Amino acid sequence: MKIVAGNPINGGVAYGKARLVDRKKGNTVPDSAKKKGWKEFLAAKDAAAAQLRKAQAALSEKLKGQEDAGFLEIQISFLENENLLNTVKSYIEEGKDALEASKKVCGEYVQRFLGLDSEYMRERAKDVRDVFDRVENILSGTEAGMELEEPSVIVCTDLSPSETAELNPEKVLGIIAQKSTTYSHMAIMARMLGIPTVTGVDARIFDEPGGETVILDGDEGVVYINPDGEMIRTYERKAAADRKRKEGLKALLNKPACTKSGREIKIYANAAGEEEIKTVAENGADGIGLLRSEFIYMRSDAYPTEEQLFETYRRILSEMEGKKVVIRTVDIGADKAAGYFCLDHEENPAMGYRGIRICLDRTDLFKTQLRALLRASKYGNLAIMFPMITDVSEVKRCKKLLDEVRREVGSAPFETGIMIETPAAALISDKLAAEVDFFSIGTNDLMQFTLAVDRMNPKLEGTYDRYHPALLMLVEMSVKAAKRAGIWVGICGELAGEEKLTEWFVQSGVDELSVSASCVLELKEKVRSLD
Ligand code: PEP
Ligand code: MG
Repeated sequence: MKIVAGNPINGGVAYGKARLVDRKKGNTVPDSAKKKGWKEFLAAKDAAAAQLRKAQAALSEKLKGQEDAGFLEIQISFLENENLLNTVKSYIEEGKDALEASKKVCGEYVQRFLGLDSEYMRERAKDVRDVFDRVENILSGTEAGMELEEPSVIVCTDLSPSETAELNPEKVLGIIAQKSTTYSHMAIMARMLGIPTVTGVDARIFDEPGGETVILDGDEGVVYINPDGEMIRTYERKAAADRKRKEGLKALLNKPACTKSGREIKIYANAAGEEEIKTVAENGADGIGLLRSEFIYMRSDAYPTEEQLFETYRRILSEMEGKKVVIRTVDIGADKAAGYFCLDHEENPAMGYRGIRICLDRTDLFKTQLRALLRASKYGNLAIMFPMITDVSEVKRCKKLLDEVRREVGSAPFETGIMIETPAAALISDKLAAEVDFFSIGTNDLMQFTLAVDRMNPKLEGTYDRYHPALLMLVEMSVKAAKRAGIWVGICGELAGEEKLTEWFVQSGVDELSVSASCVLELKEKVRSLD
């Protein structure tokens, strides 16, 4: 038995076979030391074409001429298109990495196809995305997929947020990752899906990942490789106790989170799309306090249309049956990437072109989302929230666009709010409060920017101080500003689930706490224990 200490990211115990997985999509552009050029692009393109030809031959054999495998021919033809190849080459010659150039050209071609009149030609955008994915996976050496034959504990370097969002918790018993941090979106998604997770463990510790049995203790941040019988029995007892506790908590499903003196705190859940709504309902949340709408974009191969967005929002609002659903407008950028946005590589993406900055720049895209939201507003209790606000002028511009869209498509009543997740927003929260119906404090980014700790850097894991007075002062300042203005205020960052702070939040005047669905009942119990 080997015992490895890591960082506890999401609680719970997983027991099963370890399975090493590689990233499915090469979403990250390598640093300059590993830059790839035209030669590598050509090699990747040829390898992709060879793969497609092989697949085409196999498919034709299977179909036995009933139907042809023509779509593969179309994909191969993209790889031979001179214009397309020349565009990639010119970007590489300008100094872009091959992967970056490939993403950029892919985005341009996808957009070009989507803009065409014929339905058939618009469909080809998917072929473009597919074939480029193949090339990019080869370029970044990340071809292996995440398909698991049997329920397993996955071992990886790290996962992108969208890869984590796609995991099936019935198959993925636990995650052991080397790089991800407590406040990364990979960790947040793992919490949302309720998958026990430990990070800071190097896969090389395994002699033969795929053969070894592991126990992963997400509460303690420990991994046991090939545990002995005694350890297995210990954890069987722990798992049984956990199950019993969870069963007991179900008694609170339909009960409000009221303190003994009768103050009710709304306990909402965070979600990333309609996939999580069932879990939110099963865990007795009073509503959704943060729907990270960018995950809907990240799960899509091209910009979702207004109709697609409307249908998704309509279903989410209807399923929540009148409970409040706070939908945050798309906060793409930093670690949340969708290739077709064609975002340039940035030195400091967390402080770069992201979230509301993209929306206020590309207002066509923003208005599509706002139109879909307002049209869906009559199907439930909608609140719209804008991320990454630093200035009153941004809120005014958002509201102006919202008004324009409302005049176009109408709406049922809804609330408008902002995230307080930059120190600037907290410091001017009095002014911001005059503009909106609510605040939701995003402590993940607020901590990152206040303490100058990159939430994506595993080397800084030990320096995230969630009780740092500077962070708590900004939280308090924002809550007080909200109270003075008579608007409600919640917390939707990971700090909301920090039970050592629950009493302080309640005393400060926080009205709502939004946490992973799996933490809702525990938090209800905590609030109910307070005076
Ligand atoms: C936050 O920053 O606290 C937040 C809730 O948003 P995200 O984690 O998606 O950046
Ligand atoms: Mg944030």
